[in-house]
Amino acid sequence: MSEKTLNTFEIVQQQIKDACTALGETQEVFEILKQPKSCIEVALPIKMDNGETKVFMGYRSLHNDAIGPGKGGIRYHQDVCIDEVKALSAWMTFKCGVAGIPYGGGKGGIIVDPRTLSIDEIERLSRAYIRAIAPVVGEQIDIPAPDVNTTPQIMGWMVDEYSKLQGKNTLGIVTGKPVAFGGSLARFEATGYGVALMMREAFRAKGKDIRGSKVSIQGFGNVGRFAAIYAEEMGAKVTAISDVSCCLYNENGLNVKKLYDYVNLPESKNMIQGFKGAEQEFDRNKVFEFDVDLLAPCALENAITSENVNSIKASIIVEGANGPTTPEADRIINEKGIFLVPDILANGGGVMVSYFEWVQNLQNYYWSFEEVQQKQEVKMVKAFNDIFYLKEKHNVSMRVAAFMMAIKRVADAMRARGIVK
Ligand code: NAD
Repeated sequence: MSEKTLNTFEIVQQQIKDACTALGETQEVFEILKQPKSCIEVALPIKMDNGETKVFMGYRSLHNDAIGPGKGGIRYHQDVCIDEVKALSAWMTFKCGVAGIPYGGGKGGIIVDPRTLSIDEIERLSRAYIRAIAPVVGEQIDIPAPDVNTTPQIMGWMVDEYSKLQGKNTLGIVTGKPVAFGGSLARFEATGYGVALMMREAFRAKGKDIRGSKVSIQGFGNVGRFAAIYAEEMGAKVTAISDVSCCLYNENGLNVKKLYDYVNLPESKNMIQGFKGAEQEFDRNKVFEFDVDLLAPCALENAITSENVNSIKASIIVEGANGPTTPEADRIINEKGIFLVPDILANGGGVMVSYFEWVQNLQNYYWSFEEVQQKQEVKMVKAFNDIFYLKEKHNVSMRVAAFMMAIKRVADAMRARGIVK
């Protein structure tokens, strides 16, 4: 099977196996963790604007809830399939385990290209989906959130629909809501801010300083742009940024805040191409090749492969995207001694602030932007240090150490409950 067509569920099962072996964990722990605890499939008949009824298929997978309720986003995409939803729910168990937040893993999705639907159709579909999965979700059962192509507004509709079913306001059923309706301040920035924190900590672990360092970032969406903004605030020179349109380069550092304003102009169509502050514009794939200290893939999965990994000159990689490195490229990165901060740690800021949102909803008391970011920093730095300690102790990569820490936490909870010996 080619590198690019590996089934994500097979990849996650292999990662669980590797971490269980490194930990010396029992076979029964592996057997439980290699598939979700439950996964439901729902058929959603939706009345379209033209009066016809169309049926959409949706899924919700709860991978593990030994530590606490499931947590994970809902994806609207034409390529959603049950294996992908299962794999993503497993990654959420481990992401929450790494972040040290009291959740298990969940994930959901609907097979739909939302660009083909009107806003009213999307609202009806979203309300139908939460009604269909209502028996398997809940504030203390499994808590959805946004993912690819789902927005705070969609989360708002889902909470409204679920609250109607319950006959009371249940704001903690879903996170990633609009701030006007129980959302948390600093959630929008959280994933990118966390990626920048992990960049800073990676430099520190290598005895270096982020200040004055050169950084390359692939992707200028929600994750990439805030990773770039906060890295610049921390003193890095962001010399290269790419998106789907091109790669911008400036030896002295791009002005990230100006680039952020540029992509928000209607004429830029949310793309970086045409920004005046770059010395040069290249093909988007050039982003991997510059002579920089750190590379942060923040765009999409399978971005670093055996074909481009040898052109990387950075000595540190921080994975902002989910699954940006193929297993083969990962092996080469380890052989070359590149220090890699894995996705389940590096982009865990989003789920961490989702957890803060849920805590605020349950106590009905809301924190300031600064309080949220401060709490995020404390937890993410602790997670980095704990994983770095495990990496050194067992002489494994940061990725294996992260899985080891998460699996140990879940296995310990299963033992405490008496689910395994
Ligand atoms: P987004 O859609 O906002 O942005 C994606 C960016 O990647 C865009 O700038 C796009 O132009 C760029 N891109 C797409 N294809 C590219 C290519 N071939 N080369 C260069 N750039 C390309 O998405 P996002 O929310 O920023 O998410 C990015 C990644 O981070 C995804 O893997 C996502 O699953 C992961 N992630 C996101 C969050 C979050 O809170 N948004 C949390 C955890 C993980």
